[in-house]
Amino acid sequence: MSKCTLCKGKAAVYSRPYSGESLCSKCFTRSLEDKVRATISEYDMLQPTDKIVVAVSGGKDSVTLAHILTRIEKKFPRASVTAVTIDEGIRGYRDEALRTATKICQELGIPHRIASFKDMYGYTLDDMVGIIDKREAKGLTPCSFCGVLRRQALNTTTRKAGADKIATAHTLDDEAQTMLLNIMHGDAERLGRVKPVLMKAHPKLVQRVKPFCEIPEREVVLYAYLKQIDYQEGPCPYAGAALRNDVRAMLNRMEEKHPGTKFAIFRSIERIRPALEAAREAVELRECRICGEPTVGETCKPCQMLQELRAP
Ligand code: SF4
Ligand code: ZN
Repeated sequence: MSKCTLCKGKAAVYSRPYSGESLCSKCFTRSLEDKVRATISEYDMLQPTDKIVVAVSGGKDSVTLAHILTRIEKKFPRASVTAVTIDEGIRGYRDEALRTATKICQELGIPHRIASFKDMYGYTLDDMVGIIDKREAKGLTPCSFCGVLRRQALNTTTRKAGADKIATAHTLDDEAQTMLLNIMHGDAERLGRVKPVLMKAHPKLVQRVKPFCEIPEREVVLYAYLKQIDYQEGPCPYAGAALRNDVRAMLNRMEEKHPGTKFAIFRSIERIRPALEAAREAVELRECRICGEPTVGETCKPCQMLQELRAP
C-alpha cells in the first residue's frame, strides 16, 4: 500500500474511499478521534460539565465509543464518563457481553452500572420469548420487546444515576439503515426523529447523543483492531431475519460500488429534517399511569407489553 497522505512517512493501512485519503495507523486513529470531536462540537452534543453515561453493550461500537469518549473527556476535568449496560437476559449472548463490558470499564477506570430486565420488569428476554412462542402471537418479535424495554431501561437507569447525557454508539451505518427502514415502513414521522441529538421532550427523559453518527462502521472496527480493543463478536441469537439485515447488506453493496452513499443518505435527511419536523404535530408527553415514565398515551409501551405478557 502507498504512503500515508497526512504524515507522508509511514505506510498507509487504510484507504478512505469517500475522501481519497490513505492513512497510516497513527494518522487514522487520530483522524477518527478528531472526527468524533468535530461531530460533538458540530451538533453541540456535550458540555464541559456534563455527566455522560455511555450505553455499553459489549459490542465493538459501544466499547470503542467508551474508549474514545474517556480519552476526549480527560481534557474536561469537570465532566465525567460512566457506563451502563442493560442486561436483557439472553443466555449465552448477553452474559458474555457483560463480562466484556465489565472488563473494558475496569481497564478504562470508569464506573459501570448493570441494569437487568429481570430486576426491572420481572422477566428476562428469554422468558418473554418463551411466552410469545407459546401463544404464537403474530407480529410480536423478540426485537420489538427488546428495543422498547431497553430504551426505557436505559433512560430510567441513567436518570437515576443523575446523568445529563446518554451517549449511544450508533454509527453512520446504523443511522442510514434506520432512515431507509423508516422510509420502507412508510413512517415519515419517525424519519424526522432519527437525529444526532434527540430533543429532551420531558423532564424525565435524559438527552441522547450519538457521537459516532458520521463515522462509518468499518472505521470503528478498524480503530478497535488497531487499538487492540476487546469486544464481543457473535450476533444475538434473536437477530434472525430482521429487515434491517437486508437493508445493511444492500447499503454495503451500494457503498462498495458508489462510495459516499451512506453519507449522502444521512446528509439528505439532515437537510430535509426542518420540513419533516414542521410537518409533525407537536405531542405532549405525560407520565404513564402505571410506572410514571414519560409516554404519549395513558400507558407507556413497556407497561402495555408487560400487561400482554401477564395476561392469561
Ligand atoms: Fe435485542 Fe433484537 Fe438486538 Fe437481540 S437483535 S439484542 S433481541 S434488539
Ligand atoms: Zn409505564
